[in-house]
Amino acid sequence: MIQCKNYIDGQFVEPTGKTLEKKNPANLQEVVGVLPQSGEDEIKSAVDVARRAFPAWRSLSRIRRGEYLDNLVQILKREREAISQVITREMGKSINEARADVTEAIHMVQYVFGTARMPFGDVVSSEIAEKDSFMRRKPKGVIGVITPWNFPLAIPFWLVAPSLAEGNTVVFKPSKESPCTAQKMAECIEEAGLPPGVINILYGSGEKCGMPLARHPDISVVLFTGSAEVGQQIRKVCAEYSDKMCACEMGGKNAIIVLEDANIDLAVSASVISAYKTSGQRCTAASRIIVHQKVLKDFQKRFVKMSKNIRIGDPMDPNVFTGPVINETQLKKILSYNQLAKDEGATVLLDGGRMTGPEYDKGCFVSPFVYRMKHNSKSRVLREEVFGPHVAIIPVGDLDEAVEVHNDVDYGLSCSVITEDYRKAREVRDRCEYGLGYVNLPTIGAEVHLPFGGVKKSGTGLPSASTLIDVVTHRTAWTVNHAREIKMAQGMKMDIK
Ligand code: NAD
Repeated sequence: MIQCKNYIDGQFVEPTGKTLEKKNPANLQEVVGVLPQSGEDEIKSAVDVARRAFPAWRSLSRIRRGEYLDNLVQILKREREAISQVITREMGKSINEARADVTEAIHMVQYVFGTARMPFGDVVSSEIAEKDSFMRRKPKGVIGVITPWNFPLAIPFWLVAPSLAEGNTVVFKPSKESPCTAQKMAECIEEAGLPPGVINILYGSGEKCGMPLARHPDISVVLFTGSAEVGQQIRKVCAEYSDKMCACEMGGKNAIIVLEDANIDLAVSASVISAYKTSGQRCTAASRIIVHQKVLKDFQKRFVKMSKNIRIGDPMDPNVFTGPVINETQLKKILSYNQLAKDEGATVLLDGGRMTGPEYDKGCFVSPFVYRMKHNSKSRVLREEVFGPHVAIIPVGDLDEAVEVHNDVDYGLSCSVITEDYRKAREVRDRCEYGLGYVNLPTIGAEVHLPFGGVKKSGTGLPSASTLIDVVTHRTAWTVNHAREIKMAQGMKMDIK
């Protein structure tokens, strides 16, 4: 069992107050870890420490900061298997997906380490030949990072690594559903030798730890990834301050569009991967498959057959396609959406329910629920994020209707089109509302050097991963005069009379 300890000023702090148990969703009898429940006092102490660590950290050369991150990469590589096992035990994604999660975190840290020797601004021209002008990026200060549980290592590093590389310091609050991965992260950071206070990690609930962290006046930027509902609360809180900004990455109601000329084998595989990897608990998971009438029958038959056959079970088993859902609350929420689909008139094609039997009784296992339903702007199941293996097949008559249905939701995160016609793919590219678009691929599968962020209710328009640099730095203008007198732009006269 892992004892999670707040990491403040380079020290692991023994928990004194209340603690919470983190159970394995594949076997609720197994307690994977215990985490402290931090509040205002711990937040104050962590933010003070991060504020004090900021001047020295920002004064280091970018290359020196990058070298600390290079140390961290070496340790993460060594710990890859151990961390992957912790991820699978505490949040239930299959071991292969957990390894990919750690690999993605490593890629993110490698990417920002690589940028340490790259330009961090621009040389720009001036109207006046004797002036040299520059755009120079400056760090913003103390960054508050709040993350979900479904990518327990990759998402924290998407947010923390660029913040640190650019000279900011960090206070990070992980989800209470993935504290043990955060503990492993803290141990790696400690071993990498980052100066005390540069990164601090606090465990606690959203209300008592996340929200007060976001509100703290010394937090310059809040980086939040999670549900649209909480993201909206964070945005409101940040708006109360004149000098606090936030970048929120939130949920999705993503779709795959299967056109009449689609390769149906590829369409079925892309849909199964998008719908059921991580048991549908990815922000980029597809819960809508918009299918052209002409291929509906064939696609539907093959998709339902493959959905029935995916192997669900112990996520530590490398042959399992997907594991449990995160907890009982989420399982009940998924079942209630399955019922709602029936109430809203869905034609049920595969009736997913709670899975039972020796392999499943101790955990939170649910099987795929697939239905066909005509698009209806008022339907809740076709518009709300379910975050589980819950899939609607929505028939459409042509490309225009497919685009209209695709965009008739409040979210806009990930979109895929399956087609052999490059002109149609281009229409989808230009007319659908999304942040991540794919052709002949699943809706999942981002890479760190691409922007990651949605539109509408899915994001604040400030994508994570490589593009986070725009959020954690301020672009300053710096102009130097080399003439012996003052010459102004726009032809302004400088004679003093
Ligand atoms: P969540 O919003 O419940 O929690 C996310 C984080 O916010 C957690 O650390 C939680 O403790 C904290 N939190 C909860 N209530 C809070 C409050 N009132 N004030 C401040 N912090 C609070 O989300 P979750 O269940 O952990 O994750 C699932 C959601 O995350 C889904 O909606 C999914 O689509 C989304 N997600 C989005 C992305 C993305 O990049 N767009 C990636 C992964 C997950």
